[in-house]
Amino acid sequence: MNAFNSELNQRLDALRQQDLYRQLRRVDSAQSSRIQIDGQALLNFSSNDYLGLANHPLLKEAAIKAIERFGSGSGASRLICGSLAPHHELDHALARFKQTEAALSFSSGYAAAVGTICALLDKEDILVLDKLVHASIVDAARLCGAKLRIYPHNDLGALEDILRWAVKKESIPGQRRPQTLIVTESVFSMDGDVAPLRELIALKEKYGAWLMVDEAHATGLFGEHGRGLAEEAKIADRIEIQMGTLGKALGASGGYICGSKCLIDFLINRARTFIFSTAPVPAAAAAAQAGLELVQSPEGRARRTRLWETIHQIKTGLLQAGWLLSSVNSAIIPLVIGDEALAMATAKTLREAGIFIPAVRYPTVARGLARLRLTLTAAHTPDDLEKLLCTLPSPPRDA
Ligand SMILES: *Cc1c(COP(=O)(O)O)cnc(C)c1O
Repeated sequence: MNAFNSELNQRLDALRQQDLYRQLRRVDSAQSSRIQIDGQALLNFSSNDYLGLANHPLLKEAAIKAIERFGSGSGASRLICGSLAPHHELDHALARFKQTEAALSFSSGYAAAVGTICALLDKEDILVLDKLVHASIVDAARLCGAKLRIYPHNDLGALEDILRWAVKKESIPGQRRPQTLIVTESVFSMDGDVAPLRELIALKEKYGAWLMVDEAHATGLFGEHGRGLAEEAKIADRIEIQMGTLGKALGASGGYICGSKCLIDFLINRARTFIFSTAPVPAAAAAAQAGLELVQSPEGRARRTRLWETIHQIKTGLLQAGWLLSSVNSAIIPLVIGDEALAMATAKTLREAGIFIPAVRYPTVARGLARLRLTLTAAHTPDDLEKLLCTLPSPPRDA
């Protein structure tokens, strides 16, 4: 035991020396634009609760009702006896929301990504990823064993080179034809920029590849009905696999895949993170369904409008203060600082002034690209933005 612990302590020391050591922060309040951390009330600019639904009365009420009727636990995996009514209602609500033939909810977005990619591909196949996709997709790539190709972020030329190579791959006699799957996020989680979905669709169709789009940071925010960037680009029906999480703008917990009836049927049979895991608690499924309904209601639309106004307002202020910002709009605004230690120190200064924006550093982003990851929600007020702009230090010169 001592040897085990001293080995781990050495590894932890190495992390500390590189300014990469991480610790949990205990939050003693509900998720909102104000949170209580270690006894300090903080203005929160770090949450993915983009529409302010995580603590919404309608979602809480739906969760409580589900607990009263279906209990706290679901007791088994969906394929044994844990497929409770709230799970089925959620799956139907997801398909209606995204206007796909079918949908399947998972215990998390992470589980949805890993389960789906590993079900669809094996070592004969080719997986093509944008350099900046989320860790859940990177882990799926490792696990599924497919030949992995990575293209520089949003680089369509490099993607086309890979697809040109992929179509030349011959089938092995007696085996099914190798498939190529491209996976991208629609809004990228650490940079807040967006994928060129129309161009990606044109390429995947030209080369007969499949496309999976992770809308974790776009669902609830983009498109006339809040379905995501695919809705806004009017190409949702040409994407084979639409993925997302129920834990961000939808205010609950879980992940989903939307697509054709056979895709969902196939996942129920082959997605190991779905099959070999206890069904999500009924409260989570019911809250997510309430979140979906809210997003599509007039209140949801009003919250989306408020959020976009907030984003425009803060970006105007940040540009005036000298920060370099992308012209693309999303609720994620990276304030790139560069140096890991300086990013940590800046986050600490802000926190002492009552503002919580976490520093994000390697391995979440590349080394030397440490940043404050500022996220806006519909719950932020103009006063909150004013306070942030007054407190934020000037950008570092060489960032
Ligand atoms: C958060 C996130 C996930 C994982 O979703 P969870 O429900 O939190 O597991 C997947 N992809 C992206 C891009 C994310 O930001």
